[in-house]
Amino acid sequence: MFDNLSDKLDNAFHVLKGHGQITEINVAESLKEVRRALVDADVNYKIAKDFTNTVKERALGQDVLKTLKPGQLMVKLVKDELTQLMGGEAEGINLSGNPSVILMSGLQGSGKTTFSGKLANFLKNKKTKKPLLVACDVYRPAAINQLHVVGEQVGVEVYSEEGNQDPVAISKNAIAHAKENGHNVVIIDTAGRLAVDEAMMTEIKNIHDAIEPHETLFVVDSMTGQDAVNTAKAFNDRLNFDGVILTKLDGDTRGGAAISIKSVVNKPIKFIGTGEKMDAIDIFYPSRMADRILGMGDVVSLVERAQEQYDEEEARKLQKKIAKNAFGFDDFLNQLQQIKKMGSMKDLLGMIPGAGKMLKDVDIDDDAFKGIEAIIHSMTPGERSEPKIINASRKKRIAKGSGTSVQEVNQLLKQFNQMGKMMKMMQGGGGRKMMQMMKG
Ligand code: GDP
Repeated sequence: MFDNLSDKLDNAFHVLKGHGQITEINVAESLKEVRRALVDADVNYKIAKDFTNTVKERALGQDVLKTLKPGQLMVKLVKDELTQLMGGEAEGINLSGNPSVILMSGLQGSGKTTFSGKLANFLKNKKTKKPLLVACDVYRPAAINQLHVVGEQVGVEVYSEEGNQDPVAISKNAIAHAKENGHNVVIIDTAGRLAVDEAMMTEIKNIHDAIEPHETLFVVDSMTGQDAVNTAKAFNDRLNFDGVILTKLDGDTRGGAAISIKSVVNKPIKFIGTGEKMDAIDIFYPSRMADRILGMGDVVSLVERAQEQYDEEEARKLQKKIAKNAFGFDDFLNQLQQIKKMGSMKDLLGMIPGAGKMLKDVDIDDDAFKGIEAIIHSMTPGERSEPKIINASRKKRIAKGSGTSVQEVNQLLKQFNQMGKMMKMMQGGGGRKMMQMMKG
């Protein structure tokens, strides 16, 4: 995410970090680089200029030149200003209605249908919400099917009416259906066009006026940069929407839309989409996003994701197994699955400060665990719970079954063994034995 911009900003600060003595000229030079980086990221020139002017004023106000670490202070000032530009605080969506009606708008291909599914899934996981998805694209039967597929994936009911060409009527019927069936959130996916056109705008406005949604969201592909900002403006002029959803941030190396959309339409970005899968959705936190843009990682989000996957009951069971030395390959597989649920590897590593930059050219394969999984799947239940019994001929069979080599099987067994020892040590005498081992 935002690799290009992060690199350029890093270079801009280098101007300051590299110099023993900081002068007003250096600061100006550094900010000029920041401005260039923003413009290259497809941030509107005026916004970029205002941005650096504000930072400059703050910098001079704080007497950056006299501080011990002017480079760091500048990074902080830029971070604070970026956070402000992107909206300051995170803003949630209005779920006060019963049902709360959420209307999705945006161009075709922006990721509306995908996001509708993600949002339904996100709310469903909150336990108190029972969403209903509504297909209102009356022009493309394929779009209706797509929503049904998405709904099935996340286990949320989808409402559609075959043959009905009136999206206003469908929306109203859907809301009535929701009331009758205890759905407390209704998410309406509407038809988009390839570009802003009058017919589409009139249609979405008619739906909007007829159902008076609690929340109208505008979905936009962040990779389209300034176009995204212009489209947002056109939709906002007609719909006066409540918030923006930025999709495809996983593929966005520039970041211009994320940075400038708020200041152009004066509406907050509420969620972001970071992948094609149904769990690739995050609340938009301006300050965390600023950290990411500046290559500082996002540890808070990383910890939160880990917590979401943390199941206390499971953890206790696992601990017992470890204590009894009964941690087998099935448990290991389970743990791998938990990690995978947290998101793509590249995404996770990008949240660790510095790691994103370090690993930017490394191809991190999400299938990295595939080999390991295949090996474990080729083991019999007995072998999984008691790996000790895996002898040479069993190894050969497992390698063959998983399409790997005996060496790879050996390596996994060895690692598993080491892991077992480590776990026992952490359990038993706790840190003491570990310390002894480290000393010894
Ligand atoms: P719609 O026409 O607005 O409903 O757009 P779709 O939901 O059909 O999305 C268009 C394409 O973008 C599909 O191939 C999606 O899988 C893809 N897509 C949607 N959101 C994301 C995202 O956050 N990241 C990535 N990489 N792809 C996405």
